[in-house]
Amino acid sequence: MATAITIDPRLGADASSFVSGKHAMLIDGNLVAAKSGKTFPVYNPADGTEICQVPEADAADVDIAVRAARHAFDGGAWPALTPSQRGRLLWKVADLLEQHTEEFAQLEALDNGKPVSVAGVADVPLAVDLFRYMAGWATKTLGSTIPISAGNDFLSYTVREPVGVVAQIIPWNFPLLMAAWKLGPALATGCTVVMKLAEQTPLSGLRLAQLFVEAGFPPGVVNILAGFGEPCGAPLAAHDLVDKVAFTGSTEVGKLIARAATGNLKKVTLELGGKSPAIIFPDADMDTAIAGAASAIFFNQGQCCCAGSRLFAHESVFDQVVEGVSHIGSKIKIGPGLDPTTELGPLVSEEQFDRVTSFIKSGHEQGAKVGTGGKRHSDRGYFVQPTLLHNVRPGMKVVDEEIFGPVVVAQSFKTDADLQRLAAQANDTVYGLAASVWTRDISVAHKMARMIKAGTVWVNCHNVFDAALPFGGYKQSGWGREMGAEVLNNYTEVKAVTVKL
Ligand code: ADP
Repeated sequence: MATAITIDPRLGADASSFVSGKHAMLIDGNLVAAKSGKTFPVYNPADGTEICQVPEADAADVDIAVRAARHAFDGGAWPALTPSQRGRLLWKVADLLEQHTEEFAQLEALDNGKPVSVAGVADVPLAVDLFRYMAGWATKTLGSTIPISAGNDFLSYTVREPVGVVAQIIPWNFPLLMAAWKLGPALATGCTVVMKLAEQTPLSGLRLAQLFVEAGFPPGVVNILAGFGEPCGAPLAAHDLVDKVAFTGSTEVGKLIARAATGNLKKVTLELGGKSPAIIFPDADMDTAIAGAASAIFFNQGQCCCAGSRLFAHESVFDQVVEGVSHIGSKIKIGPGLDPTTELGPLVSEEQFDRVTSFIKSGHEQGAKVGTGGKRHSDRGYFVQPTLLHNVRPGMKVVDEEIFGPVVVAQSFKTDADLQRLAAQANDTVYGLAASVWTRDISVAHKMARMIKAGTVWVNCHNVFDAALPFGGYKQSGWGREMGAEVLNNYTEVKAVTVKL
């Protein structure tokens, strides 16, 4: 039963009116309730209270949405549009989103817990930029002409065609941005989409659905569902009328998605977990490196798949780095995401709070020392202090496993002469999503960049994203890449045409 909800007074008029309105999913061009009529509560992680109820999709809604996407792809209006018209529609979504930047930043702060000041300059503008960048690609999915050895009286060329109906399942850490990363390239290449939002954070995605309607997308091209993993995500990933599934989330669920996709051998791309190293050499600009290492882990409450969660510092600067990062961590202003002065918000949910605090507990039990933090903040909401643990080694859970919270483990390394050994330490993880290297020595920087097995290596920076840069993982961090020109390969099939002249 829905309880009486008090809307947070810090919400602006637009966000407030959306939150207190009736929530609907986008299926076949219509904003609708779930077939079953069921809804589920969305919680404010800053205090654990219910914000509102949203529709709860299950296999029946998935089936209707997939059939709508199939129809829009096979015979509907989408293929009839020119690439330029598709690009213009994507650009229109970007414009509408930009016009509502503050509203979306507030929805992210309320629902996910992240600081509204961060969402307003990172999540929303990056999503706007992604849609604009991908709008440009709509007219540029090019093939090539290929000389073949059968003879000069042959003409061979390739065309890139959209892969078809795409299922997209996204997580809660960047709800709007993850939706943009996935929808942008799929629509630019001419695919149709059924997206499932994360159950913890459906609000910005449901609001985005309204913008797709407003922009004038034909029915069935974009379908956006709210629902849970097993009852909604699983039937979507397994549906026989889906040609491809794109997933971002945990490595554990990524493996389930890969298995679910085998029924009709749909194409699969996965963007999964990480345990990314941030490596500080003694010649680095220490102020920049220490501030960068702190931001690498504490940004977004540490809930980034590419968070710099393993900090390596040369033994000659180790104490300075531990003290510096701990000092920054201890000064970060913790509070509700909607407070404009907040720098670190709550974790997204009670489940994540329990998970992160149990990791910290296991760190204590296995002998880690606390540089800063290590405790919950406030007895209301899901706040965890920015935490640095040292005296740690491989084999400890906090070192080996992804924590997905504001918790960094710091280890020292002995010599920068043996870069190979250091790279092996950095690569000593099942993941391979990202890394950062902090040094003034360009030779060391590039050697490390070459030896680190990860999809992204940052030098003297961390968490720098751009719609034009591919992002994704080696090893168990995933399959395929998001963004950049690379992502277009995931959403297209290549056809080779050979003509005997
Ligand atoms: P987290 O543990 O960080 O919440 P998950 O990998 O569990 O990450 O969730 C990421 C997304 O995957 C969410 O949208 C979630 O609902 C969905 N999901 C969870 N389990 C399944 C499943 N068995 N099949 C399909 N999707 C799932």
